[in-house]
Amino acid sequence: MKTVLVTGGAGFIGSALIRYLFQHTDWNIVNVDKLTYAGHLESLEGVSEGARYRFVQADICDAQAMGELIRTTQPDTIMHLAAESHVDRSIDGPGEFIQTNIVGTAVLLQVARDYYETLDGTKRAGFRFHHISTDEVFGELGAEGFFTEDTPYSPRSPYSASKASSDHLVRAWYHTFGLPVLITNCSNNYGPYQFPEKLIPVVILKARNHDAIPVYGKGDNIRDWLYVDDHVRALVRVVEHGKVGETYNIGGHNEKTNLEVVHTICGLLDEFLPGTKHADFITFVKDRPGHDLRYAIDASKIESELGWTPEETFDSGIRRTVQWYLERLDWCRAVLGDETKISRLGLSSGT
Ligand code: NAD
Repeated sequence: MKTVLVTGGAGFIGSALIRYLFQHTDWNIVNVDKLTYAGHLESLEGVSEGARYRFVQADICDAQAMGELIRTTQPDTIMHLAAESHVDRSIDGPGEFIQTNIVGTAVLLQVARDYYETLDGTKRAGFRFHHISTDEVFGELGAEGFFTEDTPYSPRSPYSASKASSDHLVRAWYHTFGLPVLITNCSNNYGPYQFPEKLIPVVILKARNHDAIPVYGKGDNIRDWLYVDDHVRALVRVVEHGKVGETYNIGGHNEKTNLEVVHTICGLLDEFLPGTKHADFITFVKDRPGHDLRYAIDASKIESELGWTPEETFDSGIRRTVQWYLERLDWCRAVLGDETKISRLGLSSGT
């Protein structure tokens, strides 16, 4: 039976990945997470501690703890998602992003290398280090074109620069030390259990509370949205069938301006909570510095080589997401501390 070590498994995508693995595979899962403000064990509903799943609270920057964890766990695969992930926070304070996203990734690569080099021949053949990254490393697009796996890196925020650095480190450990790595760069995710600081949950909660819904600039920044469970299925496909040393772009063919996303959410809220025109709460605020205009992914490589395609359309995924947040205010309260914080939520452009 396969053992997978997931970093950042209490976060948005990591928890969706673990819930999926727990339900759809027989793999043993070890989840290592520091439990920052963004990590919540409440997101691992249905995943019980026991023979198949174990949680370890630790910092990926702690080389001793990571070395010991990997030696005792003996994973066949490491899926590395732990990161500081919010662009606005990276503008306010880049230090944690450099520490976790760059130093933390370097620590994991080094302990993975030490472990890999001591594996016996049979196990060594299947070991993989899968680094989960973002399309933001490519910078911004104009009105035309798509990011492919060959698009040159041009990160523009401290978040995307720290993720770009980590991608480069992963490639270096492949080329220099022969560590069997896989890299995926995905577009903006949305879905249940996303911490309410990112665009979609912020808009849902603010509009439901009849608070002003802040939209950056004119709301014309374009993001390519992917439902989180589609991302998770892509990650599992890459870990199982991806070619070592390769990068795969993952995206949903769902380009939307931020304003379109906000109006779609308001329309759904009008339907679920009749009597209010939620779009009346939209307010335009000063744009984020260095706000990239457009991201869009060309996902043809993963589609043609690994047979992955998204199952959820934006219409179906956003409907499920709005419904989930309305039904799970208990989860929102648990991760935010209390409901009054909803009124003080910041704004976001997706990440
Ligand atoms: P998230 O912020 O929801 O979760 C991050 C998790 O990492 C949290 O549980 C946090 O506690 C943990 N963590 C942070 N620092 C840590 C440390 N030093 N040691 C151990 N654990 C630590 O992020 P997410 O949205 O789930 O993103 C997961 C990964 O996917 C990130 O690497 C991100 O760059 C990438 N990604 C995200 C998106 C998106 O739209 N959310 C898109 C593409 C790629």
